[in-house]
Amino acid sequence: MELEQLQKTAAEVADREDVKYVIGWKKGSYGYRVAPGFIEDAAGAAELIFSPLCTANLATYLTLVEKLPVPRGQEADDRKVAVMVKGCDSRAVAQLLVEKGIGREEVVVIGCPCPGVVDPELLAEKYPETEETVEIKWTEDGFLLVRGEEEIEISRDELLAEKCRLCRYPNPVISDVMLGEPVETRELVEDEGVAEIENRDVDERAAYWEEQFAKCVRCYSCRNVCPLCYCQDCILDRLNPTWVNRAVNFSENTAFNIARAFHLAGRCIECGECERVCPANIPLGRLNRKLAREVRDKYGFEPGVDPEAEPFQASFKPDDPEDFIL
Ligand code: SF4
Ligand code: SF4
Ligand code: SF4
Repeated sequence: MELEQLQKTAAEVADREDVKYVIGWKKGSYGYRVAPGFIEDAAGAAELIFSPLCTANLATYLTLVEKLPVPRGQEADDRKVAVMVKGCDSRAVAQLLVEKGIGREEVVVIGCPCPGVVDPELLAEKYPETEETVEIKWTEDGFLLVRGEEEIEISRDELLAEKCRLCRYPNPVISDVMLGEPVETRELVEDEGVAEIENRDVDERAAYWEEQFAKCVRCYSCRNVCPLCYCQDCILDRLNPTWVNRAVNFSENTAFNIARAFHLAGRCIECGECERVCPANIPLGRLNRKLAREVRDKYGFEPGVDPEAEPFQASFKPDDPEDFIL
């Protein structure tokens, strides 16, 4: 996709009378940083980019729009929010539509076919971040890092994010405007991260997750970044009754992480954002992908691929397995 085309399309959308602003990616202030950009007019669109550093799922912002009461005598602002989405991000939009978290008339979806993003941790480890702004571009079979005069070719396998190795929906599943040509889709491959844990015996698995959950500092970054964690009244914030105690210890951390994982079963669209932002490096993706696979294998349901689908946790089919019912 050409940058020029992206900025031109974003400018046209931002200028539409029925659009409040366009949410896209823009260069951050240093190094590899990319920040969300909220573009209100055509001129602002010149800031927008799309590169292998655009890891953030901007669909998260769709449910964060503050809906203040409209003062008497004034009209509500019913303009749409436009959002740029990669394939995985578009699944979040589709799932939000399924759950009626947003209405179709509230959003303009700008689809960005996605060749895959880099793993920011691996990138910083192998090519340490500097203060100067660095660019990374897609090439035929990998990435090109551009730092001042220097250009470094990097193979796809060296830096591709884990979620992208497993991705089957790199092309947006829903869009009003599509930027560029579709990219090649990939087959379902074995999830080695999940398989590695499944191959351990029960005691080893328990020890693994005990070690992982013990690291959780309960910052709730995973919840806050997740496009599908948007309940206005989250049980974690409740004091009466207190569902999960605020104490940061193994027991409460486990309750929190398991409750969140199960609340996202059949809803998580595997964008990997929770794991990316976790300061304790807990492999949340493995937990969520294990549940996603169980739902897919047992119930034939995949969230965020059909905006017209029934929500998994609020529907059933007569032939759903029920052998777990005592
Ligand atoms: S998971 Fe798919 S759509 Fe999402 S960033 Fe990776 S390749 Fe792109
Ligand atoms: S982001 Fe990580 S450390 Fe923070 S609450 Fe979530 S699991 Fe715990
Ligand atoms: S649980 Fe994590 S991977 Fe799943 S939708 Fe939320 S942020 Fe994305």
